[in-house]
Amino acid sequence: MRNLVIIGSGPAGLTAAIYAARANLSPLLIEGWQSGGQLTTTTEVENYPGFSKGIMGPELMKEMRGQAARFGTEFLTGDVSAVDLSKWPFRLTIDGEQTVEAAALILATGASAIQLGLPDEQRLTGHGVSTCATCDGYFFRGQDLVVVGGGDSALEEATFLTKFARTVTVVHRRDKLRASKIMQDRAMNNEKISFAWNSIVEEILGKDVVTGVRLRNIVTETTTELACAGVFVAIGHRPNTDLVKGQVAMDEKGYVITSRGTATSVAGLFAAGDVQDTKYRQAITAAGSGCMAAIDAERFLESAL
Ligand code: FAD
Repeated sequence: MRNLVIIGSGPAGLTAAIYAARANLSPLLIEGWQSGGQLTTTTEVENYPGFSKGIMGPELMKEMRGQAARFGTEFLTGDVSAVDLSKWPFRLTIDGEQTVEAAALILATGASAIQLGLPDEQRLTGHGVSTCATCDGYFFRGQDLVVVGGGDSALEEATFLTKFARTVTVVHRRDKLRASKIMQDRAMNNEKISFAWNSIVEEILGKDVVTGVRLRNIVTETTTELACAGVFVAIGHRPNTDLVKGQVAMDEKGYVITSRGTATSVAGLFAAGDVQDTKYRQAITAAGSGCMAAIDAERFLESAL
């Protein structure tokens, strides 16, 4: 049986590993399909403290991994395919084969932004396509931008982006918004924001960087091209919680509910990072909650073992 197993190798999992390893818990970290997490899919990260000149996402994650390894974290490359939380110690199956028992478990499996599913979307991510205005808005000073979505987060992103952008066009597939009245009022009264109603992005244009979008009006079936330097996709996030579905308390969107720090409804299971965060979804907040989870797990183990 392992003292502590951490699932996920993003900022939350790796920070938990650094703290747990330095507390002599000899953590085992299971990296998953995306070693290093979401930041490995981006280019420059300018808002992670400690890097005054910015740092490339993959480089930042390599440094975090090295720091966790330095203090003795054991890494396992693989996906956790099942978790049994019904008995203690918890039992994990990795890639359908290997099993591991854990006295304490930190779930740091992140969340994935829902994408449009367009052919060039992946290719141009980090080169004009983004799912995070807080992360990338600053790169688009004085530019024309598109935000896709009609909910609160889309309008929040659009409003935030007007701090930098020249114009922001919100592309929404319906003729009315799902967002709350207050968010709608704020966006409608913002002179930099305009709306493309009943419209979908059919194609993201650009060879090396985004230069525009092709919009299709789904009522009139007409298409138009709109020049822009950035496309912010804000149609929601999906937390990676299938593994523990039905075994721990979650909200209606599938985020793990935490209280008193990173504790979940299952004693000994802690959750950190985007998997439990419906609000901030930043590398620094994920790392912060990873630290909290390691300290919470350490205290749990002190009383349980
Ligand atoms: P993630 O980084 O999502 O990591 C989740 C980990 O869980 C992965 O390692 C994955 O392999 C693992 N995993 C999932 N399922 C399993 C499983 N079944 N078994 C084992 N492992 C599993 N934030 C900023 O602060 N600044 C930025 O500039 C910034 N830019 C961004 C750019 C992009 C393109 C994206 C997508 C996000 C950006 N973010 C940025 C947000 C930031 O990346 C996330 O908030 C942060 O990575 C969340 O960390 P996390 O550890 O919770 O999860």
